[in-house]
Amino acid sequence: MNEEKFENLKNEVAFCKKCVLHRYRTNTVFGNGNPEARIFLIGEGPGYDEDQQGIAFVGRSGQLLDKILAACNFTREKHVFIGNILKCRPPQNRTPSTDEIIACLPYLESQIELIDPEIIMTLGATALRGLTGKNLKITEVRGKWMIWNNRIVMPTYHPAALLRNPNLKKDSWEDFKQVILKYRELVDPDHACKYI
Ligand code: SF4
Repeated sequence: MNEEKFENLKNEVAFCKKCVLHRYRTNTVFGNGNPEARIFLIGEGPGYDEDQQGIAFVGRSGQLLDKILAACNFTREKHVFIGNILKCRPPQNRTPSTDEIIACLPYLESQIELIDPEIIMTLGATALRGLTGKNLKITEVRGKWMIWNNRIVMPTYHPAALLRNPNLKKDSWEDFKQVILKYRELVDPDHACKYI
């Protein structure tokens, strides 16, 4: 990983005014975790807590995500980098517009290029559609490996959806279990997880 390019990209995001969302942000949220991680998680965009703290997934959704990662025996410090389609919070957490996604997506693509992960996981419909540019239904494609730019992608639900509808947790866990198996196959055959 080219640390200088990564830092330059982070600085570019911090001062970005490419879309209207720069007017509303408190902080940009570049993403967090290990820049050397082999798993790249993609969410939609910052919410209130993330905007306040400048850190990805720190609200209730983030706490749930951390629990799921812990069950997988993955940590933010070692195994994953977490980024978003958007680096600035849309007002009232509204769904991002197509123009905003188009403006911000090159940052995510550069992050992926620099980190060069083995596995990508999209969290929620907006992350999936934003990354692929396709109007896919998360309920139809979750749990199935996809190819995007010669990379493998596992689409799953956003943790916020699991908070709204706990019935989705079972399917979500199945998706994460597939990621554990793929991580063992591609990265570390000795990765331990007491559940699988
Ligand atoms: S959301 Fe992305 S493109 Fe829009 S101002 Fe923020 S960093 Fe720039």
